[in-house]
Amino acid sequence: MKREVWNERFTFHCLRCDHVWSILYEVRRYTGSGGQEWLVYCRDGRPVRVPHLDGSCVSCGGLRVKVLPKRPETEAGSAPRRLAPAPKAADRSEAV
Ligand SMILES: [Zn+2]
Repeated sequence: MKREVWNERFTFHCLRCDHVWSILYEVRRYTGSGGQEWLVYCRDGRPVRVPHLDGSCVSCGGLRVKVLPKRPETEAGSAPRRLAPAPKAADRSEAV
């Protein structure tokens, strides 16, 4: 099994109170021997829900939270530059 790890920052926008914040995730992509891929999002070394589903405002607790388009992460030396579109295996990361 092949594993790639990089850091990715997601920015969130609350549609209720207009609060904007961002969270840095460690993303691990596993590729199985059959070519299947899946992603695991981690914070502080622990797997968490995928950012798109982790939707509650840190300010007001509102649930109408939108994920803003990503920017490349540059602060972590291990982050490869990736120009690929959103990985299609994201929906499988919850199974871990
Ligand atoms: Zn809010």
